[in-house]
Amino acid sequence: MKTSILAVGTELLFGQTVNTNATFLSDKLNHMGFDVMYHFVVGDNPARLKEKLAEAFSDTDLVILTGGLGPTQDDLTKEMVAEYMGRDMYLDKEVIRQLEGFFEKRGRKMSENNIKQAYLPEGCTPFYNASGTAPGFALSADGKTAICLPGPPREMKWLWDNGVREYLEQFMEKKMFYRVIRTIGIGESDLETLLMPVIDGQTDPTVATYAKEGECTLRVASQKDTIEEAESAVSKMISRIDSLAGEYIYSYDDEELKEVVVRILKEKGLKITSAESCTGGLFPASITDVAGASEVMSSAYITYSNESKIKELGVPAVLIDRYGVVSPQVAEAMAAGAKARAGADIAVSVTGYAGPEADPGHEAGEAYIGYAIGDVTGYDAVNTSRNDRKWNRNYILLRMLKAVYQLIR
Ligand code: AMP
Ligand code: MG
Repeated sequence: MKTSILAVGTELLFGQTVNTNATFLSDKLNHMGFDVMYHFVVGDNPARLKEKLAEAFSDTDLVILTGGLGPTQDDLTKEMVAEYMGRDMYLDKEVIRQLEGFFEKRGRKMSENNIKQAYLPEGCTPFYNASGTAPGFALSADGKTAICLPGPPREMKWLWDNGVREYLEQFMEKKMFYRVIRTIGIGESDLETLLMPVIDGQTDPTVATYAKEGECTLRVASQKDTIEEAESAVSKMISRIDSLAGEYIYSYDDEELKEVVVRILKEKGLKITSAESCTGGLFPASITDVAGASEVMSSAYITYSNESKIKELGVPAVLIDRYGVVSPQVAEAMAAGAKARAGADIAVSVTGYAGPEADPGHEAGEAYIGYAIGDVTGYDAVNTSRNDRKWNRNYILLRMLKAVYQLIR
């Protein structure tokens, strides 16, 4: 079904608010098999709102509007949609009941303005909002449907999960099944080249690649008459992808690398530690982001200065003198030292230049990731050639996770 999204709110045009509602809805709608053709943004202006609504309906059958459902004077979406579809408003008793409950629970008095929120267009399907005060609704006429949702992203998402998604299922002619595969260690264009035999000329399942910071994601989707058929088509396609690019895949279920690493460490009963300079603790921060991290990590080191590398990790001073602090030798010694001192099974380390500055003879984004497992140590060299500190730090973190993943997979 051809679909548009119409975001309403002057703050969006001023650049004060990012239009995250459109991103969220587009993603969800596409996953359900709707063809999102347009994104419109319009300020809180009734004439322009109606104009864009007409434009959206001239080429699409479903328009999802967000914003402008609030209790104040400038919130006009509901009224304009009702007018466009030729409907009067009625006072919805259920909304009144919920509003009274909402204010009572908070010990506040309901204002006259709030009553405005209880008016809905005749003949609509209301989406009652337990996460806020403004209800959403769907309204259809002549084969066209408008769905109005509140602007605050939290409420919009809540209504999506509690009513809207289910409501939209009636428009899905086919059943959609998809899987998201995550890869690391290969760029988007190389991955696409590798997968050309299965991507080229393929209409179902579709295989789409998306590049994210330092990694690449594949979405394999199929639309069939039944969910079983779609699932089976996706499985077959994944086997083919696996045979072409399996070595780069770390998740078939859209897991993050940190989640996969923690899961495998847990499964194998391994303890990990880390020693970092330029990432300043990002590694344990990401491991402890995952529930149950305490089973796999008991301590970690942040050793920024040369002295702390020597004192806390036992890195021989002579290595730093001879090879420099940003060197493979120091990275490996950091990992070996951390592993021994923490009594862990695996250690990963990093020494490098996050940037924008680097010592003479070095570049921002140059880093060495060391690892130690059993009696073995090793390193990966990283060179991002970027002087963007934040980007470098996050990329180096990803490479640390990748180094660990490759050791334990
Ligand atoms: P409204 O429903 O128009 O009163 O919107 C209330 C608040 O929701 C605004 O102040 C914004 O902070 C937020 N908001 C509205 N529209 C959007 C949007 N398209 N994307 C993200 N946030 C939004
Ligand atoms: Mg608004």
